[in-house]
Amino acid sequence: MAITVVGSVAFDTVETPSGRKERCLAGAATYFSLAASFFTDVRVIAVVGEDFGASEQAVFDAREIDTTGIQHAPGKTFFWQGSYLENLNEARTLQTDLNVFAGFEPKIPDAYRDSQFLFLANIDPVLQRRVREATPHAKLVAGDTMNYWIKDHKPALLEVLKGLDILLINDTETRMLAGNSNLVLAARAVMEMGPRMLVVKHGEYGATLFHKAIPGAPDSRTFKTPAFPLEQVTDPTGAGDSFGGGFFGYLASQRELTPGVFRRAMFYGSVMGSFTVERFGTERLQQLTREEIDHRFNLFRELTHLD
Ligand code: AMP
Repeated sequence: MAITVVGSVAFDTVETPSGRKERCLAGAATYFSLAASFFTDVRVIAVVGEDFGASEQAVFDAREIDTTGIQHAPGKTFFWQGSYLENLNEARTLQTDLNVFAGFEPKIPDAYRDSQFLFLANIDPVLQRRVREATPHAKLVAGDTMNYWIKDHKPALLEVLKGLDILLINDTETRMLAGNSNLVLAARAVMEMGPRMLVVKHGEYGATLFHKAIPGAPDSRTFKTPAFPLEQVTDPTGAGDSFGGGFFGYLASQRELTPGVFRRAMFYGSVMGSFTVERFGTERLQQLTREEIDHRFNLFRELTHLD
C-alpha cells in the first residue's frame, strides 16, 4: 500500500557535540520518506525553492520515492537551524525560515489519489489540514507536530487532531499539548482530542504506544519499545521522523493491522530512528540497506526478549 506524506523538505544547519554541519538535506518529509521507502511506495507533497538541485532530487530518486507532488517555487527552500549542545535529547531551535512554505498551496497529484495511508509530517497545521481534507478516503491517517506549532498555532492543530487515527509526538510535547505533567493522563487527554492511538517518543529512552482500543487486543493499552543502545550519537535530528517512517511504512506494508503488527511497527520505528542519528542529516538513511535493517531488528528482539 502506498503512503502519501506531506511535510517539510528542508536544509538544516545543526550543531551537536560531534560537530557542526551546514545546510544538510533534511526536513520532516525527507526523513520520513527515506525511512518509509524501505517498506513500501512513498509519494511526497511539499515545496522546494531554487536552491534544491539535481543532487537533492537524486536522493529521492535513489529510493524510488515519487516526487511528482513536490512543487518548485521561486525563492529559497525551508531552512532550520538547531543546536543540541546543551541537551542531546531535545533540539534548541536557533532559526526557522519558512521561505517557500509561507505561500504554499498543496496540490495532490492524480496519481496519488489511491494512497490508502496518509502521513501528515511536521509542518504548518493549516497545510496538514488541507491535505487531510483533500484525501477523505485514506484508510489510516497518522501525523506528527512539534512544540513550535503547539505553542503558537494550537487552534489549527486541534482541527488536525480531529482527523487523525494516530499522533506521534515526543513526551514534552504530549505534556504541553494536554497541559498535564503526568504522561499517562496527558496521553489520555490527547486521545480525547481525536487520535485513537498516540505514539510518544522519548528520545534515547525509546517510545510508548498508547491506544484506546485495537480489536482483539488484550486489556493492556500501552506498549513500550526501548531505543537501540548506541555508542555514538552524532546528530539526533530526524530521529522522530525516521521513527515515523519505519513505523508507518511497516504498517502500510502489512495486509492486516493486528495488535502484533502495531508492536512490530514500534520496533521498526526504533530501528530506523537509531540509524538516522549515527550520522549528520539524512546521510545514514541514504546509505542504508534492507539487510542492515533486518539485522538490527533481530538485535532488537534479543535486547527485549524475556524467556
Ligand atoms: P525531528 O524528527 O523532530 O528531529 O525533526 C527534524 C526536522 O524537522 C528537521 O530536519 C527540520 O528541518 C524540520 N523542522 C524543524 N522545525 C520545523 C517546523 N517548524 N516545521 C516543519 N519542519 C520543521
